Amino acid sequence: MDYEQLLKKAYEELPEKTVHKERFEIPEVVISLAGNQTMIKNFNEIAKALRREPKHIAKFLFNALAAPGSVQGNKLLLQRKLSEDIINQKIVAYANQFVFCKECGKPDTKLEKSGRRLILKCEACGAKRYV
Ligand SMILES: [Zn+2]
Repeated sequence: MDYEQLLKKAYEELPEKTVHKERFEIPEVVISLAGNQTMIKNFNEIAKALRREPKHIAKFLFNALAAPGSVQGNKLLLQRKLSEDIINQKIVAYANQFVFCKECGKPDTKLEKSGRRLILKCEACGAKRYV
């Protein structure tokens, strides 16, 4: 067997999962409106998908949507009438800032405290940045 044949054989023997990139999807919000309040019913599911603290995401959304609110069990209550689209956009903005690695684009990251600041560490490529 020559070198090229060896290489071809090696590629063929690679397990599937190293070849195909895992898909990562942020669930879209499911909301219910009551008066001037918006309830995100699947807030916990979104937090789990992003692997972040619901409180941290909530704080970001209160600022980004200029709406006060509170976490209520698995849901998030916002004291403002909002559309799904605008909330989805802000959740994507959160993910870009606090979940996705800027170096490799993967979501396999974690937030760590460093004094009073937060560091986003990538478990895939090892990149670190302050957020
Ligand atoms: Zn990375």
